[in-house]
Amino acid sequence: MSTASINTGLRPLLVASSAPRIDVYHGQLFIEGEWRAASSGGRIERRSPAHGTLVSTYAAAAPEDVHAAIDAAHHAFRKGPWPKLKGAERARVLLAIAEGIRENVDRLALVESLESGKPLTQARAEVSGCIDLWQYAASLARTTSGDTYDTLGEDMLGLVLRQPVGVVGLITPWNFPLWILSQKLPFALAAGCTCIVKPSELTSGTTLMLMDIVKAAGVPAGVVNVVTGLGAPVGQPLAESPLVDMLSFTGSTRVGSMLAGLASSKLKKVSLELGGKNPQIVFPDCDWDAMIDAVVFGVYFNAGECCNSGSRVLVHESIAERFADAVVERAKAVPVGDPLHPDAKVGAIVSEQQMRDILAHIEHGVAAGAQVRVGGARYEGASGTYLQPTVLTGVTPEMSAARDEIFGPVLSVIPFRDAQHAIEIANDTAYGLSAAVWSRDIDTCLKVARGVDAGTIWVNTFLDGYPELPFGGFKASGVGRELGKQAVEDYTETKTIQLHIGERNSRWVPLKQ
Ligand code: NAD
Repeated sequence: MSTASINTGLRPLLVASSAPRIDVYHGQLFIEGEWRAASSGGRIERRSPAHGTLVSTYAAAAPEDVHAAIDAAHHAFRKGPWPKLKGAERARVLLAIAEGIRENVDRLALVESLESGKPLTQARAEVSGCIDLWQYAASLARTTSGDTYDTLGEDMLGLVLRQPVGVVGLITPWNFPLWILSQKLPFALAAGCTCIVKPSELTSGTTLMLMDIVKAAGVPAGVVNVVTGLGAPVGQPLAESPLVDMLSFTGSTRVGSMLAGLASSKLKKVSLELGGKNPQIVFPDCDWDAMIDAVVFGVYFNAGECCNSGSRVLVHESIAERFADAVVERAKAVPVGDPLHPDAKVGAIVSEQQMRDILAHIEHGVAAGAQVRVGGARYEGASGTYLQPTVLTGVTPEMSAARDEIFGPVLSVIPFRDAQHAIEIANDTAYGLSAAVWSRDIDTCLKVARGVDAGTIWVNTFLDGYPELPFGGFKASGVGRELGKQAVEDYTETKTIQLHIGERNSRWVPLKQ
């Protein structure tokens, strides 16, 4: 147990009545519409972090496999029907994929839960939510359009076309595997692009399972390809290959900025969804119970392994002690345990390495002077990677606990004097993904919402999301936006056509002097 831990009063870990029963999923690479082994024959095993049970095995692709997938996507884009299909036809295929996901929610959710460690109930909700993302993208396949300019004079018409950008590399992380893929893939397909997907080596199962659905829905061979394996050998060729026109990456700021450097040096379009250190800013006049619940949900949902995690709470100094007592009491009541237990709201941490990283962050915070008010350690005696919901107080804005993404169930509580001070603390990190403000005063809410550098601001709520609303980050949290009606446009290039009408009488060099 960590020396920093305080676990008195925590609810006992939930234990499921039986061990998981699953047919181990054995995945191959999906290239040009067919399943293929990796050229090296190498395999990766994935075990459930909650149970230690083998869940799946994947092909460990080598760079030559990735190049085969890139060639397939390039050929499908240059010679295949997909980019030229009517929007209505692409929409029909995307809707068929949405229905395929609906028919397989339970199967997909079980693999998602066992590979990631998240509760099965939550995985089911996420997989069901993906249906809506595919349906929304289908609507954009029909409605995304360019522009016309009939204002350029009698003899000129300007047309601005939106054409698919080409071959897109999609790299995804382990925390919401199918959801994050569904924030990218259907929108790229709606635009008419062809894709190579590289899922996380920890959670590739549902991405591969989706390919059976993609194939059955009638997506032509080569339009979607999946290459599994470790980050550098599989992901890097997608950033470097001249045949890939765009890279869309979700993951850590460290890897994202390195890949963006490689991709930019080849002058590729780049879209990045990266880390966050997202503040919830709490004023004394807020709806107290709703706020405390949203703070606990915001930081412990998905065990805090969430780019949007509300991992910092900035609290007005007049209520800081009352807040700390209340949030500690609520943290103790969070049901943590076996992802297959129907009551579990927080499951296992994704890996032993991630567990060690989180514990190191807590130790670092304590060494810098923060106090562990609850949690701070593993659940003693548990065989899976379960971490206690943790609250750190005495955190000051310059400490790493206030600035660095911990990516675990750890809340840092930081007091502020007034709205301006709260905005300054909120903006004093490298990140700018999301934030929330809690107050019944509309002026306070708007001042904070306008002042904080973040791509999403929630007012008196937290973590809601809609396909209609763009999502992405300021500063080190990313480049570009996903979702919203612009999502498909991000996967397009703009082409201007200038159309002369009628006789062209003027000459640059007159025929007769
Ligand atoms: P990661 O950066 O380690 O890995 C992300 C993906 O990149 C994985 O597929 C991985 O295999 C691949 N990768 C790793 N090293 C690579 C390399 N050298 N070259 C090419 N590809 C490489 O991130 P992670 O640990 O999987 O996910 C956690 C991070 O993702 C957190 O920082 C989190 O904030 C971020 N995230 C952001 C969002 C968002 O929308 N902003 C959403 C989810 C997660």
